[in-house]
Amino acid sequence: METQARQTGSQTDTQTGGSAIRESYQKFDPQAYLQNNYTPPRADFSRPDSIVPWKLNCLREAFSQGDISGRTLIDIGSGPTVYQLLSACEFFPEIILTDYLEVNRQELRRWLRNEADTFDWTPYIQHVCELEGKGSCAWPAKAARLRSVVSQVIPVDVHRSNPLHPRVLAEPADCLLSCFCLEAVSPDRESFQQALRNLSSLLRPGGHCLLIGALDESFYLAGEGARIPVVPVDQPFVSSSLQHCGFQILTFHTYTLPPSMKVGVDDVAGIFFVKAKKL
Ligand code: SAM
Repeated sequence: METQARQTGSQTDTQTGGSAIRESYQKFDPQAYLQNNYTPPRADFSRPDSIVPWKLNCLREAFSQGDISGRTLIDIGSGPTVYQLLSACEFFPEIILTDYLEVNRQELRRWLRNEADTFDWTPYIQHVCELEGKGSCAWPAKAARLRSVVSQVIPVDVHRSNPLHPRVLAEPADCLLSCFCLEAVSPDRESFQQALRNLSSLLRPGGHCLLIGALDESFYLAGEGARIPVVPVDQPFVSSSLQHCGFQILTFHTYTLPPSMKVGVDDVAGIFFVKAKKL
């Protein structure tokens, strides 16, 4: 372990930090989070240096390599977003979405039911259709495909040894995806690594794990009073954590935020994308 939890009276720092994080998530506002991260300039499809096109391209590349397959993909800490599934949905007949907060699970269910006034993912879907060479006009079919393969939207807590408690998977998943979750819900590096081990228990040997996350971030904002602490991580730490948890790293990409993407909603320095295989 890189960091040892220290004893402070009857509680460890990890426990204290964990409850501070849980408390800050009670103020998480899905609309504010979407506005902060999923509108221009961070989601500007006319700019190749924008964050969202970079993420979508990493995911498209990972799936197009042809080695990720199986029946079930679980997305851990989905939040109120579906962009992360736009390539994955073509490769899996079943996708399970998960989040810690009911407000986020509601937001996802509202999009799945195609309700009015949900976040408009259309430009994202069009962009991924373009990346896949189908042309942007193919977007309604991809939206329908994603809606049809999502089988459940369920609670998750990565700090539990079974993150899907009380549910128990009949079969381990073939693929895990998790974006901006582990570092944003862990009070310290030890807790990040334990959460990764917990996630790994959901995946079959030989299955793939795709992680996207924030580099060197210490907080992000998600609405009125929601200043959420983040454990700062770097590439060596993420790589060694995966290796210690029994993963082989296949791809590791990083993106450095240009000044124009620093819009005052966090202090993130960069983003990592990693594709790994459970040995
Ligand atoms: N995956 C989305 C994305 O790419 O934008 C959302 C990421 S958001 C930074 C972190 C998510 O982790 C939130 O949706 C939050 O509700 C969820 N979360 C909070 N505590 C968690 C926990 N203990 N276990 C799993 N997820 C948690």
